[in-house]
Amino acid sequence: MGKSTVTGRFAPSPTGPLHFGSLVAAVGSYCLARRAGGRWLVRIEDLDTPRVVPGAAAEILFTLEALGFCWDGEIVWQSRRHDAYLAALEQLQNKGLLYDCACSRKEILASAPHPGEEGPVYPGTCRQGLSAGRLPRAVRVRVPDRRFSFTDGVFGQYGQNLAADVGDFILRRADGMVAYQLAVVVDDAASGVNQVVRGADLLGSTPRQIFLLNSLDLPVPAYLHLPLVLNADGSKISKRNGESDNPLAGGDNIIKKALEWLGQEIPAELRTAPPVELLAWGESCFDVGRIPAIYGNCR
Ligand SMILES: [Zn+2]
Repeated sequence: MGKSTVTGRFAPSPTGPLHFGSLVAAVGSYCLARRAGGRWLVRIEDLDTPRVVPGAAAEILFTLEALGFCWDGEIVWQSRRHDAYLAALEQLQNKGLLYDCACSRKEILASAPHPGEEGPVYPGTCRQGLSAGRLPRAVRVRVPDRRFSFTDGVFGQYGQNLAADVGDFILRRADGMVAYQLAVVVDDAASGVNQVVRGADLLGSTPRQIFLLNSLDLPVPAYLHLPLVLNADGSKISKRNGESDNPLAGGDNIIKKALEWLGQEIPAELRTAPPVELLAWGESCFDVGRIPAIYGNCR
């Protein structure tokens, strides 16, 4: 094996057609991996089954192909990786890091001393065990009272004190579903992903993920968060905004828009080129130094 080959990935949730925010993550992760001569993987994050829309995964993959993306290896489906997640939970359990929590969301909101950056900080009610008559709902992980920091490829130094800013967080939900934070780190490690490129909405999840990687004795990848695409009113673009989000609908060259959103200067002679050619240009010319470290508006 050659040393330190870059392996990047794109991990869409099949809850609707690929929207512009996801496409920016696809373009950014693809160009950065390819520019480094590395591999680019696709993982379908279909863990949250109630939100999964039948047919959406196939549509996303079709769109990626139509735009000129080509991925390496087999597509990973989170819905088929439950055993790997359970093994990770067991590993954490054996280290004494997990405990049952009986609290409802309402109880946590009522008792949380202060809202953290990532929502209400869990006050630790069930940390010492459940009181009589309380039934376990979710499984939480004990976080240490220390800062987890990293240097992001776009946003620079970022960190959180997990105890103060987040609190013990859920790894298995009341409905039995494994939490996103755990699935992501288990999957990235299993696929050898060492460059995580994704939207800046996940910047605040990264300290939790680094903590989980450390606890599972897994390597920590390089992180690079891309400027978040917001609607004109500042709200986050969701997949619920309708068919107009489908990048193949309408006449816009969506790859050109994504590259421009990422600060890239497309040469004049390529401005009217088809998506496939623009993506090929990005593979060889994408400049990480031009990505703006902003939370901004889409247009
Ligand atoms: Zn609790």
